[in-house]
Amino acid sequence: MRAPILKTYQPPEIATTDRVVAELRRRSAFVMVSHVKPDGDTIGAGLALGLALKKLGKRVHYFQQDPVPRNLRFLPDSGHIAREIPADLPPQTLWVFGDMSDPARAGEFLPKIDRADILDIDHHLGNAHFGAFNYVLPQECSTGACVMHLLRALDVSIDPQIATCLLTTIMTDTGGFMHSNTTPEVLRISAELMSAGADKELVTQEIFANKRLGAMKILGRALDEAKIEHEGRYVWSYVDEKMLAECKADGEDTEEIVNHLRSIEGVEVAALFKAFDGEVRASLRSNGKINVQAAAARLGGGGHFRASGLTFYGPLPAAVQAVEGALRAEGL
Ligand code: 5GP
Ligand code: MN
Repeated sequence: MRAPILKTYQPPEIATTDRVVAELRRRSAFVMVSHVKPDGDTIGAGLALGLALKKLGKRVHYFQQDPVPRNLRFLPDSGHIAREIPADLPPQTLWVFGDMSDPARAGEFLPKIDRADILDIDHHLGNAHFGAFNYVLPQECSTGACVMHLLRALDVSIDPQIATCLLTTIMTDTGGFMHSNTTPEVLRISAELMSAGADKELVTQEIFANKRLGAMKILGRALDEAKIEHEGRYVWSYVDEKMLAECKADGEDTEEIVNHLRSIEGVEVAALFKAFDGEVRASLRSNGKINVQAAAARLGGGGHFRASGLTFYGPLPAAVQAVEGALRAEGL
């Protein structure tokens, strides 16, 4: 049961760029926090802001519960991302949560942080405004694009390393400039980043090519298992431990599968169920008619209108049924 929403509850104000920049200048130590199952946006945004703060002489650490995925290890400074929290952090350290709509997405290893010391930078619909400072801009294509506004106002020059991190956030969350969040402004800021030295070829190679054979094999298996329902408007498939073992693949190799399912002609919504590591994770994608963020939120997850996810605590068939129910409730 979800806790009832108190009538008196008012979300804190969205912080202005100036307010956040003043706070970044005032504090001297920072921990950039990325979400579990990290992607190029949460990591790239944290690294870009971390690198910029280091240029201002600040002390910066990076916390992330899960390891850096293989295809993001090219990112500058990603070698410093750790699960350990230094024992000697000064009081007044600012914890910067990037790309997560609620702090639980940081994972259970992160100790409870005082709200007064949290900066929440995000672009998700339905962000819980859990920080003292909430820099939440749902119109932006990526959390990195939100960070770009801060860097401009901070007056830090965007060097090639920072530019590569920021371009990674954009290319990740626009699917290589293919998703509907690719506005003219997105192309303009991406051009700016390339002019600043962002290595677009490297980002393309690492994020969209360089697939392991196992990733191709597991894609094939999942496509083979795909079920088309609701007169072709809904497609779902799954990946389990056995399939992974047979393909010599792991969870990282399954990230793109749901996008392939979505690209099937006539499909409105695609779902991929990942039944391994002791849980069922569902990834949902929409082609624009059905709000999969709202569907995921019905089951405790979240995300964006066209891309969302959730964890289901129960067996795979129950997860399949629950997700179908939530999608129906959203108009499937
Ligand atoms: P993916 O399917 O790639 O894991 O996630 C798609 C989108 O949904 C991402 O923007 C991600 O941040 C969000 N998302 C995925 N899983 C969860 C979840 O369990 N809770 C919330 N709030 N958002 C999620
Ligand atoms: Mn994002």
